Amino acid sequence: MQEIKVRNTTIRLVQGDITDIEADAIVNAANNTLQHGGGVALAIVKKGGRIIQEESNRIGFVETGKAALTTAGRLHAKYIVHAVGPVMGEGDEDRKLRSAVISSLELAEEKNLKSIAFPAISTGTYRFPKERCAKVMLRAITDYIEKIKPDTSIRLVLLVLFDEPAYRIFERELKAIRKQLRYFATRGFPL
Ligand code: ADP
Repeated sequence: MQEIKVRNTTIRLVQGDITDIEADAIVNAANNTLQHGGGVALAIVKKGGRIIQEESNRIGFVETGKAALTTAGRLHAKYIVHAVGPVMGEGDEDRKLRSAVISSLELAEEKNLKSIAFPAISTGTYRFPKERCAKVMLRAITDYIEKIKPDTSIRLVLLVLFDEPAYRIFERELKAIRKQLRYFATRGFPL
């Protein structure tokens, strides 16, 4: 397990199945129409129950780079945050992925949640490279805590990586961020 602390929030990497995680919110790597037919989405609906798909159907459509909330059925979470990441090749992918992460954090914030667990959004069916995903997601999360919402209610952000290679990739990126944070902590942040 690897983690860093940014202000009052811990960012922690975990290897495993996100449907086993206990967090106030679990993020789903969803598609625009919230049809949960494969990957993380299917695992969430299978374990959480049909209510998640039913509530998603009522929401209908979510733009790429945005997120929407449903309840979590039988999962150990209060909410599922359905975040829509980009499909590799559609253009402007980094910005869309960053926006999907920040929208998810904002929704958790609105509900005053303390913890949220993310999968590696877009890196399955949507073919976004894992290294790039680790950079964009971890940067979005640290920026959110440091600059966008320094008084955030969120105390724990988990990144749940399904397999060991994905975990290693995120671990490398987290170490790089930790180094940068140490550098700025000793020399002061640039204005
Ligand atoms: P997308 O369509 O956004 O690419 P996928 O669900 O296909 O979403 O995959 C996103 C990532 O989630 C992939 O890296 C995949 O290995 C991983 N993944 C699949 N199932 C789970 C699970 N149960 N828990 C955590 N991660 C998962």
